Amino acid sequence: MRGIPASEGIAIGPVLLWGQDEVIIEKKTIDSVEAELEKFEAAVEHSKNQLEEIRLKALETMGEEEAQVFDAHILLMEDPEWIGKIKSQIESDLICSEYIVQSVTDAFVAIFEAMDNEYLAARAADLKDVAMRLIRNILGVSSGIEDIGSSPVIIVAEDLTPSDTAQLSKDTVLGFITEQGNKTSHSAIIARTMGIPALVGAEGLRGRIHEAMETKDTLTLAFDGSTGEIFISPKADVVLQFEEKKKRIEAEHEADEAVRGKESITLDGKKVEIACNIAKPDEADYVVEHDGEGVGLFRSEFLFMERSEAPSEEEQFEAYKRAVIKLKGRPLIVRTLDAGGDKHIPYLNVSEEMNPFLGYRAIRICLDDTVLFRTQLRAILRASDFGKIKVMFPMIAAVDEFLEAKALVLDEMKNLRASGVSFDENIELGIMVEIPSTAVLADLFANHVDFFSIGTNDLTQYTLAADRMNSKLKKLYNHRNPAVLRLIKMVIDAAHKKGKWVGMCGEAAGDTYMTPILIGLGLDEFSMAPSSVLKVRRLVRKLSQETCSTFAQDLLAMEDVVKIEEKIEAFIKAI
Ligand code: PEP
Ligand code: MG
Repeated sequence: MRGIPASEGIAIGPVLLWGQDEVIIEKKTIDSVEAELEKFEAAVEHSKNQLEEIRLKALETMGEEEAQVFDAHILLMEDPEWIGKIKSQIESDLICSEYIVQSVTDAFVAIFEAMDNEYLAARAADLKDVAMRLIRNILGVSSGIEDIGSSPVIIVAEDLTPSDTAQLSKDTVLGFITEQGNKTSHSAIIARTMGIPALVGAEGLRGRIHEAMETKDTLTLAFDGSTGEIFISPKADVVLQFEEKKKRIEAEHEADEAVRGKESITLDGKKVEIACNIAKPDEADYVVEHDGEGVGLFRSEFLFMERSEAPSEEEQFEAYKRAVIKLKGRPLIVRTLDAGGDKHIPYLNVSEEMNPFLGYRAIRICLDDTVLFRTQLRAILRASDFGKIKVMFPMIAAVDEFLEAKALVLDEMKNLRASGVSFDENIELGIMVEIPSTAVLADLFANHVDFFSIGTNDLTQYTLAADRMNSKLKKLYNHRNPAVLRLIKMVIDAAHKKGKWVGMCGEAAGDTYMTPILIGLGLDEFSMAPSSVLKVRRLVRKLSQETCSTFAQDLLAMEDVVKIEEKIEAFIKAI
C-alpha cells in the first residue's frame, strides 16, 4: 500500500492500531442528577489535569506556540456556554453525561462548520478533540496513546489530533501512519519537527490490517516516510532492504554531522550562506539546532492564518522580535504577507476567483490594503532594532510594484523617526523572483533592490504553466527544467553585474541535485528546511565552483529534463 510522505525515515516494527471507535456512547437514562453531575465534574477536572500535563510536555519538546493549542483546550473545559449547556441538559433530560456531551458538541460543531470559515472550522476540530477526551474520562476508557508501553510500536490511526501527537515520544513510537490528512496537516508538521517517520492519507490501511490480524495476533509493518511505501507483514527480503536503507540514511546523517560548525565553502574558496525557511517564530530554534546560518524566508502569512482577523502591529512586532532574538545574531529575512493562491485567508475578503494563483494575491493585496501593509511594515521595522532583519516582497511582477512598496517602507520609517522609535536605518529591501517577468527584467530590478531571492516553487509553475498542486502535472512541474535553469542564470548574472546578491528560497535550494548547478551559476545564499542544511553544506564543500560553472553551462544547452537529471546524477556520483 501507499501513503502520502509526511516525515522521512524508515520504520519497521509491530503495529498498534489506534482508534477512537472503541468508545461506545449509549443513550441511558439516569437515576440521580446529582451523582451524574458529580461524575461529569470529576471528568472535567481530570481532563483539565491531563491537558495541563500535555501542555507542559509540548512546551518542553516543541515550544510555546505548540503549547498554546492546549491552553485553548483548557479554556474550552472552562467554557461557560459549552459546559453550562451540557450541565443544564443533564438536569433537564435525565440522560447520561457522555451522551449529552456528544449531542451538545455535535450541535456546536455543526454551527461552526456551517459558517464556512477556516478559523471556526479549526475551533470545531479543537472542540471535538476536547469532547472526546471528556467522554473517555467519563467512561474511564483510555485513548490508546497513553497505553503505549515501553516497547516501540508503529501507530496506525484514522487521524491523530494535536493532543495525541504531542504525547508521542521518539523512544516508544517508531513512526505513525494516518488514513486522513495531507502533508501540511498538523500531525505531519509535528512528525517532521520531532523527526518521527510518518505517512498520512493512507486510506483503507486499517481495514487491511484488520483483515491481516484475523490470522495473526501481532503484525509487523514496514514503511518509508520519503517514498510512501507500506508493507504489511513484510517478507524477509523487504525487511532486509528497508534495514539497509535505514542504515544508509543513518550513515548519511552521521557524515552530515561532520560538517556541523564548518563553513559553507567550495574547494576553490567560494563561500555561500546556507539559511533556512521558517513559518513561525519558534522554528528559529530549529535553525540554530541544525546549524543554519540564518533565515532566508520567514513565511509571515502563517501569523495571519487560522484566525478571524489580522494580527495587530504589537503581536507581529513580538513575533518578528522573538524570531530574530532566537537567531542570536544570524540574519532574518521576513517576507511580507503572501496571501492568496494556496494560502487562503478568509477575512481578507478575496472573492472567489477562476485562477487564484494568477489572481489577487500577495503584494497585489498589500499595495491596495495599505493599512494592513503599513501595520506589518511598522512591526518589522521596529523588530529590526533587535537583530539583523531584511525585508522581501513576494510575487513581484513589475518594477513599479517594488518602488511602491519601498515608498511605503520609507514613509513608515519617517513616521517611526518622528515618534522617536528606533529601527535599522540601513535595512535591506529585496524581492522574490517567482514570476518569469521579474527574471526577464532582473537587470532593471537590480537598479533598485538590495537583493533577490528566487522562489522556484512558483517560478516553476508560472514558467511551465503547470499548477504546483496538481499531481497529474508532476512530470512537467520540475525545477530542474532547462527553462527554469536559464531564468535562474539570468537573475544571477544581472544581479551580480550591479553588485547585488542572489538567494534562493524555493524547494530547489535544498535539492542536492541542484547544488552543483546553483554553485556553478554563482548563487550566494541557499534557504531550505532546517533538516537539509548539513546535507547541502557537505556537498558544497566537495564541489569546485570552476568545475560546476562549466558543468552548468553544459546543462543549460540541453533540451531534456530527464537527460539533465541523468547527467547530474553521474556528476554527483563522480565526486
Ligand atoms: C516559492 O514560491 O518558491 C516560495 C518560496 O514561496 P511559497 O512556496 O511560500 O509560495
Ligand atoms: Mg511563492
